Amino acid sequence: MIEIDPVAIMPYINTCLIERECDEILQISEYRSKAAGITKLIECLCRSDKENWPKSLQLALDNAGYYNASELWNIREDNGKYVDGEMTDASETQFETLMTFSEEAECDNLSENLSSASESIYESSSVYEPKKARSYQIELAQPAIDGKNTLICAPTGSGKTFVALMICEHHLQNVPSGQKAKVVFLATKVPVYEQQKNVFRQHFERRGYSVQGICGETVANMSVENVIQDSDIIVLTPQILVNSMEKGILSSLTIFTLMIFDECHNTTGNHPYNVLMARYLDQKFDSSANQLPQIVGLTASVGVGNAKSTNETVEHICTLCSYLDIKAISTVRENKEDLQRFGNKPETHIRWVKMQARNRFADIISGLMSETEVLMRKTYSVANISQINKNNFGTQGYEHWIVSTQRKCRLLQLEDKEKESNICRDIFICTEHLRKFNDALIISEDARIEDALAYLNEFFTNVKNGPYTELEKQLTEKFQEKEQELTALSKDESNENPKLEELTCILDEAYRYNPETRTILFAKTRALVAALKKWMDANPVLSHIKTDVLMGKGRRDHKTGMTLPMQKGVLDAFRNDKDIRLLVATSVADEGIDISECNLVVLYEYFGNVTKMIQVRGRGRAKDSKCILVTSKTEVVENEKLNRYKEEMMNAAIEKLQNWDETTFARTIHQLQIKEKILRDSRKKETKHKVVEGKKNLLCGKCKAYVCSTDDIRIIKESHHTVLGDAFKERYITKPHRKPVQFDGFEKKSKMHCRNTECQHDWGITVKYKTFDNLPVIKIKSFVLENVETGTQMDFQKWKSINLSLKNFDEETSI
Ligand SMILES: [Zn+2]
Repeated sequence: MIEIDPVAIMPYINTCLIERECDEILQISEYRSKAAGITKLIECLCRSDKENWPKSLQLALDNAGYYNASELWNIREDNGKYVDGEMTDASETQFETLMTFSEEAECDNLSENLSSASESIYESSSVYEPKKARSYQIELAQPAIDGKNTLICAPTGSGKTFVALMICEHHLQNVPSGQKAKVVFLATKVPVYEQQKNVFRQHFERRGYSVQGICGETVANMSVENVIQDSDIIVLTPQILVNSMEKGILSSLTIFTLMIFDECHNTTGNHPYNVLMARYLDQKFDSSANQLPQIVGLTASVGVGNAKSTNETVEHICTLCSYLDIKAISTVRENKEDLQRFGNKPETHIRWVKMQARNRFADIISGLMSETEVLMRKTYSVANISQINKNNFGTQGYEHWIVSTQRKCRLLQLEDKEKESNICRDIFICTEHLRKFNDALIISEDARIEDALAYLNEFFTNVKNGPYTELEKQLTEKFQEKEQELTALSKDESNENPKLEELTCILDEAYRYNPETRTILFAKTRALVAALKKWMDANPVLSHIKTDVLMGKGRRDHKTGMTLPMQKGVLDAFRNDKDIRLLVATSVADEGIDISECNLVVLYEYFGNVTKMIQVRGRGRAKDSKCILVTSKTEVVENEKLNRYKEEMMNAAIEKLQNWDETTFARTIHQLQIKEKILRDSRKKETKHKVVEGKKNLLCGKCKAYVCSTDDIRIIKESHHTVLGDAFKERYITKPHRKPVQFDGFEKKSKMHCRNTECQHDWGITVKYKTFDNLPVIKIKSFVLENVETGTQMDFQKWKSINLSLKNFDEETSI
């Protein structure tokens, strides 16, 4: 990534950044270096709350012609299939290239939606009562009822779902004779999907309409085609539709007469909403197309993008409208008073906390990190492979440096192969230690020293159970020398994190003043949520508050993640059990889910763009509710101020647009759509593949030991990779699997590790499959690919990007 010119990709990626960040990146690139600029850019992206940023970045790199770098971002499949590492137990992979701990922001994009649990678990526990429309809700629904493609923008808690029900009902009742109405309601998150499906069922089934839903794994058990054919209303997560269209099951969106996009501000970039709308618009411009469905988008905030002024905000909103083919923007204008009676809009109060300048814990860990760096430089002059690290310990930037160093070391090539093996392994070990220390520093920033220390202790226990090489022994000893002091520090109350002290004050005050207080406490990562819950339970001032946690499933960290039934259980309990007064949650709770009224929203180092903040604040629906942001970062305080300003700008821009006459608006939208279509068509022509030719070998990614020839690799069920021949079995050892589960016709038997006793790199798992008892299933991330003729090495994150022509596993003749 260091070679990339941030100025070149900026026009394609700026929607994922805030304006101040864009300026800063450009300045750094100009006055320092491009490398520093791109580092900053990635740092900003990692903090971005645009869940789709990795894909947007990839697209930006493609657009700017950086195809090799774009390859690096081929991280994950979106088609819902279990690929590569998934089955080989990603959860237990110790050596992820991405940050596994503190910066893994809760991710709620599609692939999570797709791997959801079965139906019926989210059945609403409350009894449905038909409601009467409020005046402002009728106002919001009007343009859509008049048949226009409408963007509805109204605050969280104003009952947008009810508005959608009204529109839907009117639509179903007013179909011209001879036609059949078919409505699709799209929700981006599984819990929201479950909730909306139930609302639509309760409302429409008694009226004789059939309502069905498909999401995630339920898609495997039913025919999407039949469900769409047989139902009047279909509730879906959007990827299902995208997949059905890609597979040709669904040829056109014209089968629907009304499409409702919940949280429609997501319609941008590669989000499935935008993929669907691109199909829609292609059909719109193809004059032979049949009648297209009416579009209704719902959102609490359209955002402002990178706009600096009201005029630029107008442009941003027009772009969103062009993607959704919108004719009218509907907000509450006539019935503002009525809205204010129902919708509560608490202000965000910021509590800025000053952190201690000197921190003994951080000093010790930083000392250990410096020593590890010195050891690493003795092994090999790292400067040769990776730019000298200028980042501070305990930062995102440092993590990026580790990622890039590890990657370059994997591909390090020397004349002396034995030397290459030893050096690669040792650098790998050092960087893993550095990564864990870095994580521990980040943890201690927001949670207790105790939590950071527990994290390190777990790591060192695992190290001892591995190959435990001389180098690892040496590093472990260095840590053990400090262990006593670290433990003492974790027990010393004077070292309490000042942010936690502030949190104690806030909560203590709230519950003292009103013991009936109901709080939702947001934190960025699952690990932090878990740490906060532990801290609350152990805190004598707060332990009387009955607390529960709510978080997402997690792809990597399965130990702390929650399955959908668990999430539902928590939500039900929080709704029904009046004793539970506080919910500690990740972003899983910030959009759409129906959480009972809270009068205190606390954001613990939890911040984002204007859209996110409007939604989060909307969580405090009860009367006199308060929203408090606890942070030690001055830039967050600035950002929050900026968000307030942006919100005003957004409201002004919407009003301006609503005052445009219809023809001007329609013309603007049309022009934007034409421009986008030209871009889209040219992008389609550019799809390219890198074909790897000649004989290839796989080498162990940690010690470079020979693994197999790619000729011996076979594919099972389109996504799993095995290796033929008894010779291969000699090259790995197995260890018992901690969670021997069954999956997709496979039964996990054991984990496979590199035979090299000094290495023992995780290669994958062995499974029982049909009549094969110990079939190896390897994951590409563990290896590097060597071109036998040239000796060049490459590494890949997924099988698909290698583009080898691999044979299928033939059960009759193999092994
Ligand atoms: Zn190895």
